[in-house]
Amino acid sequence: MKGIIDKLPHLPDRISGLRELAYNLWWSWHPEGRGLFKLLSRRGWFLSGHNPVKMLNSLDKTTLESASNDPHFLRHYDSVMERFESYMDLSAGWFCANVADPRRYRIAYFSAEYGLHHALPFYAGGLGFLAGDYLKECSDLGIPLIGVGFMYPQGYIRQMITPDGWQAGACEILDRESAPIRRVLDKKGDPLSLKIPVIDPPVYLEVWKVQVGKTDLYLIDSSTEANEPENRCISERLYAGDPEKRLRQEIVLGIGGIRVLKALNIDYSIMHLNEGHPAFAVLERIREKVEAGKSFRDAFEEVQATTIFTTHTPVPAGHDVFPIHLIEKYFLSYLPSLELDKNDFRKLGFNPADPGGFNMTAFALRCSAYRNSVSKKHQDITRRMWQSIWPDLPADQVPIDYVTNGIHVPSWIDRRLGDIIFNRYLGRIWLEEHDRERIWEMIDEIPNEVLWKHHMSMKNLLITRIRERARQKWLDPSRSDSSLIMASGVLLDPPVLTLGFARRFASYKRPALLLQDIERLKRIVNDIWRPVQIIFAGKAHQDDQNSKLLLQRVFSAAKDPTFGGRIAFVEDYDELLAQYLVHGVDVWVNNPIPPMEASGTSGMKATLNGVPQLSVLDGWWIEGYNGKNGWAFEGQAGSNIDAKDAKIIYDILEEKVIPAYYDVDNEGIPHGWVQMMKEAIKVTGPRFSARRMAKEYTQKFYLRALETAMKSDYQLGRKDISDFFSKI
Ligand SMILES: *Cc1c(COP(=O)(O)O)cnc(C)c1O
Repeated sequence: MKGIIDKLPHLPDRISGLRELAYNLWWSWHPEGRGLFKLLSRRGWFLSGHNPVKMLNSLDKTTLESASNDPHFLRHYDSVMERFESYMDLSAGWFCANVADPRRYRIAYFSAEYGLHHALPFYAGGLGFLAGDYLKECSDLGIPLIGVGFMYPQGYIRQMITPDGWQAGACEILDRESAPIRRVLDKKGDPLSLKIPVIDPPVYLEVWKVQVGKTDLYLIDSSTEANEPENRCISERLYAGDPEKRLRQEIVLGIGGIRVLKALNIDYSIMHLNEGHPAFAVLERIREKVEAGKSFRDAFEEVQATTIFTTHTPVPAGHDVFPIHLIEKYFLSYLPSLELDKNDFRKLGFNPADPGGFNMTAFALRCSAYRNSVSKKHQDITRRMWQSIWPDLPADQVPIDYVTNGIHVPSWIDRRLGDIIFNRYLGRIWLEEHDRERIWEMIDEIPNEVLWKHHMSMKNLLITRIRERARQKWLDPSRSDSSLIMASGVLLDPPVLTLGFARRFASYKRPALLLQDIERLKRIVNDIWRPVQIIFAGKAHQDDQNSKLLLQRVFSAAKDPTFGGRIAFVEDYDELLAQYLVHGVDVWVNNPIPPMEASGTSGMKATLNGVPQLSVLDGWWIEGYNGKNGWAFEGQAGSNIDAKDAKIIYDILEEKVIPAYYDVDNEGIPHGWVQMMKEAIKVTGPRFSARRMAKEYTQKFYLRALETAMKSDYQLGRKDISDFFSKI
């Protein structure tokens, strides 16, 4: 095994386990882990932005020494370390108990982004959080998955809005020494470095490791000095706009990713491609088999039979298509090593519905035996979109399955709601058993006033945090513009019905839809007796001027005095702000243009916490909405859909949402509303959890792919599989 290094200071022996604990994101979804770091230094925890590595780096020796002699701290330390170590037992968990020895059969999971924690900015949006939540859930279930992705040194755009509402983001370079990531070393103790063919001059990669509970995540880094300057920036930031740069990124992620696994001697039997970006990994896996003596055809079939591909994009324009001249520029010298003819290669990436380029999704669909979309509705769309690849089949038989997305419950549940209220009324076992519907029936046992009081405290906390951000801005002479401050939520009022809209400012998500009819909206928010306030947050892609214009529209409403401060735009949407928002607003608003939201997950985060969703029927909401857990409407057709959809939303607000929220008893408790909150929790908890999702991936795909993989091992006489099959 190759080594890994970190730059942490020496820790006193008695508490040296803090090192392993700090570098394992286990703490990010186990409150007792975070609690231990907080106990060590509340101030350090706060100042580090909840990043234990940064915090340990900054603590002085005496603090650490005195903790190592403090019986109170040591009691906590011992108990947390014991739980941590027992969690890390690789032979424990659902997969082991029901399926197979996880040390033998592993799944290599490839994704261009991972959203894990605000200290690790390797994501753009939902796709990343899906992947991050999935790694955590696989760890919880003991599913033997290894993640591969990119290290984006400039992944982070700190969003700053100018007084005229323009997003002027500053790239923040990640400080690697104080993030919970470690560099992977070679046998000699130098940073592991490997060379990628295909690109000329060749690209050298270094590797970083993130420990996500039991799951290892390897991140590829091209910023090493060994590279030509133009290659150093390959992984500079997510999703380069320029096609050639993007192709180079995808070559490095796919082909480079397989090389990394090889260099680390990591055995795996199955490969799971999260979206088309890493699909070139298929080629390198085939090449390895051809090099070992197989024909291209045999190698292709073996790889295909053990590859799972998940597509997330319901619009043709969202799929990567590369011009053939670029594909040839990069692949002509590589293909012979696979014994793959260039025309055959082109055929693999050919999209009959739109000939003319190399389509990554068409390529991934053809190269995988198991394919899925991410909601029931998305399956219909995807089947129709790719039917031309299976021209003999009717659309409803196109071999693309679906596994609806889910969220990692321990990561997104508010800690107090889980630890205090659910533990008490659902029983302590609720988290362990959260994909069983039965557990959630007990939600009805929670007294309305208990749930309501909790919710109001979360709303207060959200508004306090927003005001604190505004105060910091006010204190900063370069940002203390009064319209910036007024737009950022200083007049938010906890008792007022609060709508939340937070997501990437992509145009299909229609962030400005609520502003369609400004006069009507003004009447709604400024109602004297039953006012409404709206909190917006979200980033526009740096290169997307259109989204920036949408953001500017929202921002100008936020600073418009005639809205009375009831519309707020909160800067710098990230995982931490998402947590406060999904826990603390009253209604989660979701209004993309159907059918463009393949699934959506932020509404799951909100509903899990008892925040009902008002959403167009698209993505997961078609499966999730039951008439009692929020509000739904069909997206309108024809011309002027924005005006029509906005009118429906205003009607729903005026006729349903506002009356329900303000219908309170003498104690101020809106019983009908709380009933809806309970229903929201009850539906999302079991059915839209990453646990349900991970079990489904295992049962639908991994087991079948494993069986194939083991059969071929068996034929080669390499592995003893009899015990395995008896268990499946
Ligand atoms: C969950 C999440 C997303 C994805 O939200 P959607 O509404 O599903 O697009 C994006 N960003 C952050 C910070 C999230 O937590």
